[in-house]
Amino acid sequence: MEICLAGKRALVTGAGKGIGRATVKALLACGAEVIAVTRTQSDLDSLVQECPKILTICADLSNWEATEKALKDIGRVDLLVNNAAVALLEPFLEMTEGAIDKSFDINVKAMLHVSQIIAKGMKCRGAGGAIVNLSSQASQCALKDHAVYCATKGAVDMLTKVMALELGPHKIRVNTVNPTVVMTAMGRIGWSDPAKASGMLSRIPLGRFAEVEDVVNTIIFLLSDKSAMITGTALPVDGGFLAS
Ligand code: NAP
Repeated sequence: MEICLAGKRALVTGAGKGIGRATVKALLACGAEVIAVTRTQSDLDSLVQECPKILTICADLSNWEATEKALKDIGRVDLLVNNAAVALLEPFLEMTEGAIDKSFDINVKAMLHVSQIIAKGMKCRGAGGAIVNLSSQASQCALKDHAVYCATKGAVDMLTKVMALELGPHKIRVNTVNPTVVMTAMGRIGWSDPAKASGMLSRIPLGRFAEVEDVVNTIIFLLSDKSAMITGTALPVDGGFLAS
């Protein structure tokens, strides 16, 4: 299936590493113009070396005012990928206020805020748009030491449904992608221990973790007109984990 996004302008958060970085490259390959947003300048510098045509914005999206300032003159955006997040793993009884606040600030509050800014522009222009929010299998299944991460991703799934409900009349589609483990920097935090990894693998019917490409292909599909009638849904990229 060929997907052409020529003429579209896309914004990706958390574009410095992992899934976000690969999404930037896939969007470019589909012909979109891309704005890459993340908080580490050196990641943007190396990304520009690989992809000279992109626009970059360095901002800590967990800071409300910094986000307003960074995105106020962003111009037209047709496609938004809310990908930036952290995974701070702690046993439930030892969870700290700092980790809880940090997790909700970026995983949920920043997603809502960036979406507000971008969706207001989409609504004003009246040409619609598509938003993909990165959730996780952890939104729907309890994982040890993941209490706050699971809670943020559960919030992402419900936030997405309400966004779909309220933005649908403006022809803006909103969906989540819910991956299983992907061995990015974030994936390695939780799943580098072979004993832990094999426990998770044994619960995935397809018997492997997701590759970055598996997730990126799904994001691109949900951004494209090939999914024109899909909104408000959570699409697992989990090899069947949530079905088992
Ligand atoms: P990653 O490799 O850790 O990359 C996350 C990116 O987000 C980094 O570039 C990071 O920048 C950026 N970011 C974090 N906090 C930020 C902030 N406050 N402001 C701006 N940028 C910020 O993660 P990933 O594995 O690619 O994950 C991408 C998405 O997929 C996340 O939403 C994650 O929850 C979800 N997901 C991942 C997995 C997995 O196993 N990897 C599974 C399911 C879902 P810095 O490095 O500079 O902080």
